[in-house]
Amino acid sequence: MTTYKIALIPGDGIGKEVIPAGRQVLESLSAADPEISFSFESFPWGGDYYRAHGAMMPADGLEALRGKDAILFGSAGDPDIPDHITLWGLRLKICQGLDQYANVRPTRILPGIDAPLKRCRPEDLNWVIVRENSEGEYSGAGGRVHQGLPMEAATDLSMMTRAGVERIQRYAFGLAQSRPRKHLTVVTKSNAQRHAMVMWDEVAREVAQEFPEVTWDKEMVDAATARMVNHPATLDTIVATNLHADILSDLAAALAGSLGIGPTANINPERATPSMFEPIHGSAFDIMGKGIANPIGTFWTAVMLLEHLGEIEAARRVMAAIERVTANPALHTRDLGGTATTAQVTAAVCAQVASTRSCLTPA
Ligand code: NAD
Ligand code: MN
Repeated sequence: MTTYKIALIPGDGIGKEVIPAGRQVLESLSAADPEISFSFESFPWGGDYYRAHGAMMPADGLEALRGKDAILFGSAGDPDIPDHITLWGLRLKICQGLDQYANVRPTRILPGIDAPLKRCRPEDLNWVIVRENSEGEYSGAGGRVHQGLPMEAATDLSMMTRAGVERIQRYAFGLAQSRPRKHLTVVTKSNAQRHAMVMWDEVAREVAQEFPEVTWDKEMVDAATARMVNHPATLDTIVATNLHADILSDLAAALAGSLGIGPTANINPERATPSMFEPIHGSAFDIMGKGIANPIGTFWTAVMLLEHLGEIEAARRVMAAIERVTANPALHTRDLGGTATTAQVTAAVCAQVASTRSCLTPA
């Protein structure tokens, strides 16, 4: 039997509702499968911690995470604290500190979900977006001068290193190769941004040589938005910079039906540090504390966590349970047009996990 050490960081807002739900699903899995168990440690970091200690997490917090097999994260974002403090003080601190440089977001239209695109069949939309997660537009470089004066000036410097671009492109080509379509779209903006994005394109061409089985194309980020809407079936694996992929992946989530469904993983491909798994949504101030947050994004996130741990059968089992539940409109939360509560959806997924045999055919 393997016992995985999992760090839980619920964070703020509905993170505090969906992460305990995710834990319940993982516990129902270990109850049903004697081969897998989890040892959870929960870290109370986020807005409340900030109010008590003046920081979103302790200075030595990363050290507590290093020994874990994986991290399950909720959301950072508090109505009373500026977003750049909550984001940089917790989520980015962990992603950058643990060098989780590949952010991976699968998007599919799950059974029973009413997605907004009229002509898009569920099989037409099956994407994985790979986002550069350590530098680029969100490098943090820049500054403000003449602060508060009429002549105030401010910069956010997009910093791209050849090493950083190479490692994310190589990861994306490798991921594309592992998927049935073996196709990668490299998103760029090298017509207008004529330095770093031109290097980005050059590196893509070089790395492509290492992956002769993968077909690839190049798309400007603005054109990529239109292609996602008008020709979704032409896309499969997509790689883009930190900012571009941030935006494209929210569009992808909306096209798949709801922000409440999508998962994401912040991966250190070398496995030198634990990777971090989180639903794509934020703290959702408008619904926090009401018990109506959609936990499906967290459950799919748990599937990615299991895949990363190499527990492929278990991952399939949880995904099959999720899809049986989304297929039933009576188990849809409000964001999907239903009336189900977080607790009801969680109980239904746990029951499916418990009743599914462990040997499933590949999804
Ligand atoms: P959000 O994702 O919190 O909410 C956007 C909308 O989607 C809201 O109407 C919300 O109710 C709805 N929604 C989101 N998740 C849902 C779910 N699981 N079930 C049902 N409805 C759901 O985005 P926002 O409003 O832009 O941000 C709120 C706060 O969260 C901000 O402080 C922001 O910085 C933070 N945030 C954090 C992360 C993160 O930690 N990764 C990501 C996005 C936003
Ligand atoms: Mn985002």
